[in-house]
Parts: sequence; structure tokens; C-alpha cells
Amino acid sequence: MAKVQLKNLEKVYGNAFKAVHGINLDIDDGEFMVFVGPSGCAKSTTLRMVAGLEEISGGEVVIGDRRVNDLPPGKRSIAMVFQNYALYPHMKVRGNLAFGLKIAGKPKAEINEAIDRVAKILEIEALLDRLPKQLSGGQAQRVALGRALIKKPGVFLFDEPLSNLDAKLRASMRVRITELHRQLKAEGLSSTVIYVTHDQTEAMTMGDRICVMQAGHIMQVATPKGLYECPANLFVAGFIGSPEMNLIDARLDGSSFSVGSQSLPIGPHLEGRLSARPAEAVVGTRPQHLSLVADGPAFTAKLANAEFMGHEVYLHADLEGRRVVSVVGTADFEALGRSEIIRLRPEPERLHIFDKTDGRNVSL
Ligand code: ADP
Ligand code: MG
Repeated sequence: MAKVQLKNLEKVYGNAFKAVHGINLDIDDGEFMVFVGPSGCAKSTTLRMVAGLEEISGGEVVIGDRRVNDLPPGKRSIAMVFQNYALYPHMKVRGNLAFGLKIAGKPKAEINEAIDRVAKILEIEALLDRLPKQLSGGQAQRVALGRALIKKPGVFLFDEPLSNLDAKLRASMRVRITELHRQLKAEGLSSTVIYVTHDQTEAMTMGDRICVMQAGHIMQVATPKGLYECPANLFVAGFIGSPEMNLIDARLDGSSFSVGSQSLPIGPHLEGRLSARPAEAVVGTRPQHLSLVADGPAFTAKLANAEFMGHEVYLHADLEGRRVVSVVGTADFEALGRSEIIRLRPEPERLHIFDKTDGRNVSL
């Protein structure tokens, strides 16, 4: 069993800076949990407290059924993979893989068997006799993965492991890591993962669940679909999804909402979801859900720019002095001809209303 629990976890650094503000999180055995958030939000600090590399200032970390606060990293049943690989430069790949098991005093035959198994999984058999400096970035990262895997830990901890790779390699390593996780689970090996990244695409594509963090607080924990469809607050709404959700200051007046001098009916669907009617509201609509329409209720906006992406076009338009983005099909864009004034309709089923004062989504 390697579930991980964070209970009122706090970190205050030596300079009295409070980096982690009492967070609570339960990660299931075998779950792939992603910590995502902007740089400086305390993802690494939190992960390093789980790993035992950073002292815990308050609260508890529980791995399996053990409180591990006072256990050294080597006793926590974890393995960590870092951004910079941290391979021993003077040892060949084989030596790097063997290192942890040698220290643990495992017999030679067992170590060799483990190396063969891991090398096969990661397709690094041909690299075993090379030094780290003779490896490409992607190969070095696979060796670093292998070094974690060979320990058969209860929990894998990853801190931005793909940040040093180019975009193409990052995309393929992403798939490799998720497939590896699935494979380990299928083999009955407990393989709980905590994966730290600032990249929302990595978070969305890899996580069973995602924990969105900001300034040492958890903003929301949910599945990728849950975060995308039901962001709990403005921060999550703006952070998850690409292009970013349009977040537009608005007023709720009776049965309509207004942006500048333009109004649209709230409609029964959204009305039914409203748990409050904030005086200062922000409406949120994703660019994919802001459609170009010929008639019916819609906002009128002035087209400012069109980015051609191949199968779709990102329209940038000015709506009452606010910039909005709409993703439309290429054919719809071409049908526009030369007209500069466009009509944009937010899909009512996918519209969000936030309270501007506290950022809360009042339309879930
Ligand atoms: P992230 O990994 O999300 O980018 P970190 O966990 O590295 O964020 O840092 C969280 C916050 O703690 C940041 O504001 C950072 O400047 C601060 N911090 C990190 N390490 C130290 C330290 N040793 N002493 C003081 N402040 C630190
Ligand atoms: Mg970090």
C-alpha cells in the first residue's frame, strides 16, 4: 500500500517566509497525481517534504500507513526523478542503474537481473556501457527514470522531469511515462506517482487527478475533465485550457448579463446553476465555446487579428474594449470574407460566472 496523505502540511523557510500554507490532500494507491501551478507556487517544496529532502514545519506526511516526518529519504519507499537527471558522470549507465541496489547490499546476480529488466522496459539496453556525457537528453532522462524504477519504490516523485527536453521529445516522453505507469499497475506493482510541472498540457494529459496550486495553497483538486469543465475559481479557469478562457467583466441585471453596453439573456440553463448573483461578476467562456454566428443573440465585436492554425483559426476581437479570442473552423473564417464586425455567441451550457471579489465560480 502506498497511498500518500498530506495533512495540514506547512513549510516556513529559515527566513520566516511561509511557502506552504497548511495543505490537505489524499493520493490513492496507484494514482498518478500531478501538482501544477506557476513558478514559485511551492510545488517543489511540497514534493521535497514528501521525499524527505526538506524539513516539515507543520502537519504530517503519511506514506502507506506510516507517518514519515522523521524518516530519512532512504526509508520512505520513494524514488525521485529530477529535471537535471542527476546521473553520476563518472559511472556508465549500468553503474548508475546499479548504484542504489549496490548500496543496499543486494547480490550481484539480482542486480544484473534488475538492470536487464529495467533496460528492456525503457529500451536502453544498447546504452548500458556508455557514460552520461555520451547520451542525448532524452536518453539521459530514460536512464534517470530507470534508476528510479529499479528501486521498485512505493511512490515515484517527479520534479519537472521533462523541462530540459525539446518540445518533440517532451511529447513522446510524456506518453512513455504514462504508459509505463499503466504497465506497472497492470503488473501489480504499486506505482503511485506525484508529478510536478508548471505545464498545463503535461498536467492535463498525464494526470489521473490534478492538484492546482497557487502561492502555497491548493486551488482545486480534480480530474482533467473536472478542472476543464468545472473550474472552481478564476485562477483555475485561467490556468487550465488553451487558448486561455476569456474572462470578461460583466454585470448581472435581472434576466440578462451585460458587457459594456451589450446584453445577452442569462437563459434558463445558466440561471438554474447560479448559486449567487455577485454584484461584480466575471463571465468566462472558452475560445472553443465562443462561436461565430450569423443571427440569434450574440455579442458584436470588431475583428482585430486572425491566427491561422491549419484546421482552425484563432480570432482575436475587441468586445467593448476587451480583447476576446474565439476558435473557429477554417471554413467559417473564410465565409466571413472581408467583414470586420463579427457576431460571437458564448455557448450558454458552457458559460461560467465568477464572483470578481473572491474569484469563486458561482455557476457550478
Ligand atoms: P515551485 O517549485 O512551484 O516553482 P518552490 O517550491 O521552488 O516553487 O518555491 C516556493 C516558494 O518558496 C518560492 O517563493 C521560493 O522563492 C521560496 N523558496 C524556495 N526555497 C527557499 C529557501 N531555501 N528559502 C527561502 N525561500 C525559499
Ligand atoms: Mg520547482
